[in-house]
Amino acid sequence: MTSIFRGGSRLFVYSIEILTINADAEKGKTLIGTIESAKDYFPSEAWDDIRLLGELQLDHHLTISSGTEDMGAFLFRKLLKKIKEIKKSQALTNLVLGVTDDPVIAMHYYLHGKNFKKAVYVVHDYVNEKIGLISFFRIEESFSSKVVAHGLGHHKRLQHHVEPIDLMYSELLKPVTLQIEGFCDACVRKLTDTHSVINSDSQKRPCD
Ligand SMILES: [Zn+2]
Ligand SMILES: [Zn+2]
Repeated sequence: MTSIFRGGSRLFVYSIEILTINADAEKGKTLIGTIESAKDYFPSEAWDDIRLLGELQLDHHLTISSGTEDMGAFLFRKLLKKIKEIKKSQALTNLVLGVTDDPVIAMHYYLHGKNFKKAVYVVHDYVNEKIGLISFFRIEESFSSKVVAHGLGHHKRLQHHVEPIDLMYSELLKPVTLQIEGFCDACVRKLTDTHSVINSDSQKRPCD
């Protein structure tokens, strides 16, 4: 978020700064096009512009096997830390969003009886008030802008619907028909409420 002083009044410019991750120039254009389409689900004043901040080429953190082939993947926490560092190093105030086609994996350990077990899952979107990460791994192109809109909705402090009401449905990737292919009235009211402040209760954990 950048503030502009104009004639004594203060206007805020909300930009989305994009970091493409391991995408060539052509793929990068497609990724940015997807973010542009996601912006169309929001009221026109929600975002001012989308800018390409940079094209990252990163070594994968691990290799995963799908049975027929091996592929490189990123660890969610490490990749998010990288995005955070870039934002900090450039003293950016706008949302910085990393986007990739590669798989992003999150892991956590939990106690099961007397043993520790490891849960592993694929992350598709995580966007908090400052930074975000979107992976289009195995998401159909026609659906990808909806996944981005869901993540950006979290950034704008929207919370999940437990029923398939709109794009904030908690199980968005399941093959269900949404009542509204966008945001419901309650969500739109939150998005257009200029007195509300984006706060830290946006997205605490990634959506799988
Ligand atoms: Zn809603
Ligand atoms: Zn979510």
